[in-house]
Amino acid sequence: GLDGAWARRWAEAIAEGVADRKAELTALDRAIGDGDHGENLDRGFQAVLGKLESLEEGATPGAVLKLVATTLISTVGGASGPLYGTAFLKASVAAGERESLDAAALVEVLTAARDGIVARGKAELGDKTMVDAWTPAVDAAAAAGDDVEAVLDAAASAAEAGAAATEPLIAHKGRASYLGERAQGHRDPGSESTALMLRAAAAVA
Ligand code: ADP
Ligand code: MG
Ligand code: MG
Repeated sequence: GLDGAWARRWAEAIAEGVADRKAELTALDRAIGDGDHGENLDRGFQAVLGKLESLEEGATPGAVLKLVATTLISTVGGASGPLYGTAFLKASVAAGERESLDAAALVEVLTAARDGIVARGKAELGDKTMVDAWTPAVDAAAAAGDDVEAVLDAAASAAEAGAAATEPLIAHKGRASYLGERAQGHRDPGSESTALMLRAAAAVA
């Protein structure tokens, strides 16, 4: 199963990936938003790195996910801060007090994260948002079987495909929805950061 040390490595790997790809995420957001997505997430995950230092050694996956949630809510701002904050908070609740997550628990955690984003942002599949990466990821995870690494790999691959598939879409939520057809031909930044996060989860499992 996936233990608290995995959850910690996940948060650290997201921080590293966001820092590496900050300019790319911001460029996506400059095309169809306000050009701050990379900076927003980098601020949040650098703060997460600082907070992780004071988390107790044997912290459960749920405790790590909760720390990520509260840190993102207080530092990220914008649309993505409360959305990712809610995602990690619902994920932490789904993880509960478990010391480690088996495949079924992992699917519950990912589903709770996605459901939290949908409840908060009210976006549907095809609205050209991060939901277009999360929902295929959750569906693929649920179909991937009993091996946690296979579940994470399936989720990451589906999120990457979902992010790519936002390119031709018109946006119906978020800043890109103000652009109408001018959003077509551009990938949604939040779907790309979701793919980054889920690939990071698989990479450190
Ligand atoms: P802001 O748009 O406030 O500057 P960010 O740039 O950090 O915030 O995040 C933008 C991303 O947030 C979008 O690319 C999209 O994926 C996501 N997003 C925006 N609104 C919604 C929503 N209502 N539901 C789901 N995701 C959303
Ligand atoms: Mg933005
Ligand atoms: Mg903004």
